Amino acid sequence: MMVMDSVSRKAAITVRGLVKRYHFQPVLDDLSLSLSDGDFCVLVGANGAGKTTLLRILADLARPNQGEVLINGLPLKASPALRQAIGYISHQPMFYEDLTALENLEHYARLYGLSQPAERISACLRASGLASYQNQPVRTYSRGMQQRLSIERALLHDPKILLFDEPYTGLDQEAAQRLDRRLQALHTPGRVILVAAHRPQRLIPVASHIAWLQSGRISHHIPASQLNSSPELLAYLQEVP
Ligand code: ATP
Repeated sequence: MMVMDSVSRKAAITVRGLVKRYHFQPVLDDLSLSLSDGDFCVLVGANGAGKTTLLRILADLARPNQGEVLINGLPLKASPALRQAIGYISHQPMFYEDLTALENLEHYARLYGLSQPAERISACLRASGLASYQNQPVRTYSRGMQQRLSIERALLHDPKILLFDEPYTGLDQEAAQRLDRRLQALHTPGRVILVAAHRPQRLIPVASHIAWLQSGRISHHIPASQLNSSPELLAYLQEVP
């Protein structure tokens, strides 16, 4: 295992000894990982490696068989309020399809208990480029439009930990470029970004770290600037179609 992580910064996410089995088959097998404020980490791995499984556990949407997740040193399980710190962007948009984009965002703003919802909602609609479609039911949106809205919905409560699962799925060139810029703007010292991508090429140049999930564990976790010192990971990334 090759791990060159910062030890000087406080870990925002600490994962220790995660085991997740489906039908007795381990998908995650004693997986550990630590991410600090300011990290923008790309999680790479083949189809079926367990990236979505790991992100769902970090978002408290799936239960591990063993191991623990700490957020700022506190067990995720111990404090449901910690979930407010997390924004999870699945590759399957989750909306009330008969409601408009605006109504969906208003609903989530209420759930998050936002103090100035109208401002946040209009900022989200602007950032998604969907302001002029805000009064259309979400079922009339294309797959890419739903994905754009899904990204902004997850950012509505300004979470400090962002978990993106294959966020480029369904986006056209313009929307993908918009997401590139959005991710770069979100990469600030107070945030942690973890993006799962089995085709990570466009993320490598902007990421601070790369973590490689294989055989149920993080086999490599390195600063992106040191990629050239990791021939195995470099070769893997060059081979990904
Ligand atoms: P991809 O790049 O294709 O999205 P991934 O790395 O995100 O893959 P996961 O979706 O986490 O991989 O799946 C890891 C393994 O766990 C796969 O073999 C998958 O079939 C299995 N798996 C995931 N969810 C379930 C489930 N609910 N029940 C049974 N098996 C599951």
